[in-house]
Amino acid sequence: MPELPFRSGFVAIVGRPNVGKSTLLNRILGEKIVITSDKPQTTRNRIQGIHTLPEGQIVFIDTPGIHRARSRLNKTMVETALAAVEGVDAILFLVEATAPPEREEETLLAVLERCRVPVLLVINKVDLVAKECLLEQIDGYAQRHPFREIVPLSALTGDGVERLVALVLGLLPGGPAYYPEDILTDLPERFVAAEIIREKVFRLTRDEIPYATAVTVDSFTERPDGLVAIAATITVERDTQKGIVIGRGGAMLKKIGSQARREIEQLLATRVFLELFVRVRKHWSDNPQMLKELGYE
Ligand code: GDP
Ligand code: MG
Repeated sequence: MPELPFRSGFVAIVGRPNVGKSTLLNRILGEKIVITSDKPQTTRNRIQGIHTLPEGQIVFIDTPGIHRARSRLNKTMVETALAAVEGVDAILFLVEATAPPEREEETLLAVLERCRVPVLLVINKVDLVAKECLLEQIDGYAQRHPFREIVPLSALTGDGVERLVALVLGLLPGGPAYYPEDILTDLPERFVAAEIIREKVFRLTRDEIPYATAVTVDSFTERPDGLVAIAATITVERDTQKGIVIGRGGAMLKKIGSQARREIEQLLATRVFLELFVRVRKHWSDNPQMLKELGYE
């Protein structure tokens, strides 16, 4: 029997914030690379996850959600998402089984109309709905766009994810592996470290800290004994937010630091010394120069 050719290509994951893009990518990769949150917009930069199989290699691009651009930061995110759907081999359009198409979905459908690559509709969170509702959703979307495939799944339980991977692989052209097979992402380690710290800030401070939080890694050095020393700065917009992040007697910052350190240690498979600083920059998310400094433009 002739051997099937190795397939490879780039696949963009697009969808409104909170539909489960990061969860899906992490589920496919089997490891935690992209931070997830029950608060929207935690993925701000373009992120690639690389899934290598004996039959091929899929390079995923996780995008920030497309939504109405309010601040300058949001505008940057929408632009990133739009740029991500150019030059890919296929697009995964993620929606939720729990809600009918909203304005964000309409915006995306209009963008997708202009794309010539195959679009797969992924209906996520099927673990939350009854079958009848799901069928209704499938029907509604099928009438709006000639999707190549419609794949209901649950990124959380993993149900249906294998089928999606097989379908995606089948759409890719023959080609070489772009990355070594043991590589999961082309993101630098210091970027992933910053994302982990940011996730801890979100999770531990809950509703008290809005999205006006940025984390920058100021230094990342490996010592001869293997220990990695990281210094990072958490930037917030107001003094009150700084107070919350630091906590009483520094308790919150300590908690953020120790949880983040443990996770970074797992990721790097080495001991980590993590030092955190907190600073206030008023309205940074609306300031072009600050955005650039913080790595967003
Ligand atoms: P993103 O903004 O599109 O990247 O969304 P995330 O991956 O950060 O997920 C947002 C929230 O939805 C998180 O709380 C996830 O745990 C949750 N979530 C994602 N996929 C599923 C799913 O299949 N079922 C359920 N019940 N929750 C999910
Ligand atoms: Mg995300």
